[in-house]
Amino acid sequence: MLMTLARSAAQALIARLETPSGETLFCESYRNETMRACAETFMIRDRRVLEAIDSSGERGCTLHMYLTQNPCHFSSSNSTESCVEKLLLYRRDHLAPRHAALRIHATYPYRAHWDEAHMSEDDLAGSRAP
Ligand SMILES: [Zn+2]
Repeated sequence: MLMTLARSAAQALIARLETPSGETLFCESYRNETMRACAETFMIRDRRVLEAIDSSGERGCTLHMYLTQNPCHFSSSNSTESCVEKLLLYRRDHLAPRHAALRIHATYPYRAHWDEAHMSEDDLAGSRAP
């Protein structure tokens, strides 16, 4: 199974919503088996995550995301999308208003690099030689 994941660049994600006292309110796995969208996209579309927070009335929950690969950011295989940006918006627009945090646990930093075309001058300032 792991060799298949690595060879095809398939991605798996487990989302676990935890209360401040450590109780698990919701847990689900997502995959990008069709390779048409990242696993993060399926989690973001799944309203059950937010419904679990809303129905519990809990404040201070943490949504833990355990990923087989780090979230993409304008990668060479899909230069028009960034799961990093999608997750930042998801946190801002849906989790923060519910007083919930997002914690990403990437188990394998797959092709972790930045494309200078998508970086600001401030981002590049520290990476360029004088
Ligand atoms: Zn992605």
